Amino acid sequence: MASLDSSLLSILGDRTAEVLDENLGLKTISDLLRHYPRRYVIRGELTDIESLIEGEEVTIFAKVESSKVKRIPGRKSAILETVVTDGRAKLTLTFFNQAWREKELRPGRQGLFAGKVGLFKGKRQLAHPDYLLIPEGDDVDQAIGDFAGKFLPVYPATAKMPSWKIAKCVRLALDALDEITEYLPEELLSEFNYPKISEAFRQVHQPDSAESAELARQRLTFDEALLMQLFLVLRRYEVRAAKTTSRAPIKDGVLAAFDKRLPFELTAGQNQVWSEIVKDLSSDHPMYRLLQGDVGSGKTIIALRAMLSVVDSGGQAALLAPTEVLAQQHYRNFLSLLGELAEEGMIGGDERGIQIRLLTGSTAQAQRREVLAAISSGQAGITIGTHALLGESVNFKDLGLIVIDEQHRFGVEQRDALRDKAREPAHVLVMTATPIPRTVAMTIFGDLDVSTLKDMPLGRSPITTHVVSQSSKPDHLTRAWQRACEEVSNTNQVYVVAPRISADDESDLQRFGLTPDELILAKNLIDEEDSSSLKLAMSSVEELYPMLTGDVMKDLRVGKLHGRLPSEEKEAVMQAFVRHELDVLVTTTVIEVGVDVANATMMIIMNAERFGVSQLHQLRGRIGRGVSPGLCLFVSSASEDSPAMARLRAVAASTDGFELSRLDLQERSEGDVLGSAQSGARSHLRLLRVIRDEELIAQARLVAENLLSQDPTLAANPELAKAVEKLRQEERAAYLEKR
Ligand code: ADP
Ligand code: MG
Repeated sequence: MASLDSSLLSILGDRTAEVLDENLGLKTISDLLRHYPRRYVIRGELTDIESLIEGEEVTIFAKVESSKVKRIPGRKSAILETVVTDGRAKLTLTFFNQAWREKELRPGRQGLFAGKVGLFKGKRQLAHPDYLLIPEGDDVDQAIGDFAGKFLPVYPATAKMPSWKIAKCVRLALDALDEITEYLPEELLSEFNYPKISEAFRQVHQPDSAESAELARQRLTFDEALLMQLFLVLRRYEVRAAKTTSRAPIKDGVLAAFDKRLPFELTAGQNQVWSEIVKDLSSDHPMYRLLQGDVGSGKTIIALRAMLSVVDSGGQAALLAPTEVLAQQHYRNFLSLLGELAEEGMIGGDERGIQIRLLTGSTAQAQRREVLAAISSGQAGITIGTHALLGESVNFKDLGLIVIDEQHRFGVEQRDALRDKAREPAHVLVMTATPIPRTVAMTIFGDLDVSTLKDMPLGRSPITTHVVSQSSKPDHLTRAWQRACEEVSNTNQVYVVAPRISADDESDLQRFGLTPDELILAKNLIDEEDSSSLKLAMSSVEELYPMLTGDVMKDLRVGKLHGRLPSEEKEAVMQAFVRHELDVLVTTTVIEVGVDVANATMMIIMNAERFGVSQLHQLRGRIGRGVSPGLCLFVSSASEDSPAMARLRAVAASTDGFELSRLDLQERSEGDVLGSAQSGARSHLRLLRVIRDEELIAQARLVAENLLSQDPTLAANPELAKAVEKLRQEERAAYLEKR
């Protein structure tokens, strides 16, 4: 008999096992059983094609009427268009570069077709649908077996391994399998009314009823959440158990001197967070803490104080920023906040002064050598940098604290990579400006303690946001430019943000979720058939800049900024804007995070529908930083009743970062939510959705903490211990691979 760990080769033919491995990465019975159906279709129930609603996920039973391959002359790519019918209405299925399917999708064949209903050239269609054809001829007997149940599972499939074949393999696996050892404690099963693991696998693949399928799915989802939390809680225990040097603040060091210079009082929230950090730093176990707070809530000051405290104790601190612009800004900001305290060794400098260094990818050779020397001699008290800090030639003498800014862009691996540069476990402070809902934080940062800054420093000005709809009120854009000019004549500054650098940017790819080939194909088809349903028009910095400077803003000082400029130029333009030598900055999202110009009061975001909720909120956070209220305009040509417009209105109506973050995450795919945290252990999440399954995750966290507090090594539950160990190994492997 077989067990979950048995190879698929032990129960399937060589060829089938090979295809499952090559196409879907399934090697063991466990892998196969965790390849869950995407949905079920109920045998015999035909979907009325006429009633399909755009945007809906559907599965229909239908008959192929015709299939036709369209090729673009001189190109390898092709589109297959298959028309299916339910006897009355018709639906088009579109496949990019999968002309081979024409052989399968012959007129007269019947099957199940599943996908999301889209609208293309005015006709409803399914793009890249999943389908399950009823076998013909010799396979008919077989088909009766495959279609025996009432609920037919629809699996994520490939050309060589269609859904119905997977169903067959699963059936073989379930039949061959010994009783699986249950690893959830009995009390838990009865508390949640979950089926045993064997039953759960059976019901998720071959349900007796919709209810039993759902309950099985819930249990299996809970298992994922529980394993993840066990993994994270254990990791947390481990970090906490390590020993390191305490970095408690001292009485009259550079931190104390800095506090005297600070032109403002800390807010209550900042004081609270600070006391949490001090407690961590004072302990001889490393701090491992997430500091979250909305844009402008004053996280950076707190991080700087922690760094100064570490320098006071004789150690070094490093600040890892996601972009060069941001690293430079932190650098300048720190120099100005510290003033004479940052001029160690210079005549007139403070004796307690410290050295602050900047290291990025574009630091010139000679300079770089000097910075590296300062880092390894320990002279560099604070080093600010980008990914360059992770380089092999960077060797700290005594790295005591690592601050990671805007964690969203960094993975767990980078967190660990910097940590490896310390000779003993360093304290780690991760800052994120996107307030993350609790359970998402639990899944991504479940091994960190969390501090949250809820209040904003006094003197923050309110921001008003309006949506400027180009489709219904085109003249409002003209008014917007005039308003920008008025703002400038009131000695304020303005940002104009565009989604791309120049007109030929390929960021269209992302928008349509297409590969480059598919995009070319799509564009060609449109030219060919002269359709206007897929307009690719989008504002860019390179187009806006001449347009504005040649017209409404010809008397203003306008600069442009984007990621493709050489870094000295980027730096020079940003500096000019900071010093108010520029009135208007036409820019891409390079200014999204952290850029701080108090005199900027207005922002016009072009093609605002191209940006995500959090991105809009972050962008908007660049204004209203000074005494004058801010005005933000979302310019969009999205139609009035589109989801994009609804999203823009929602962001315009709220400035609550937590609320918007939730909205944002709901819109995104799971992979996006987890970001780079998706590799390693998190790649095992098949069913769990961090937003939808909030309650489940919170429950799993409690259960994990309970289990481990009674039995820290899970000695009483070897099956569970084994599963967690597997996650740990894979997390480790993912990290090593990426280095
Ligand atoms: P974040 O990093 O959270 O986006 P920053 O630390 O950059 O926010 O702070 C934003 C601005 O507010 C900075 O100019 C900073 O000097 C200022 N600031 C921070 N804390 C306070 C405070 N307690 N009172 C007044 N201004 C503050
Ligand atoms: Mg910041």
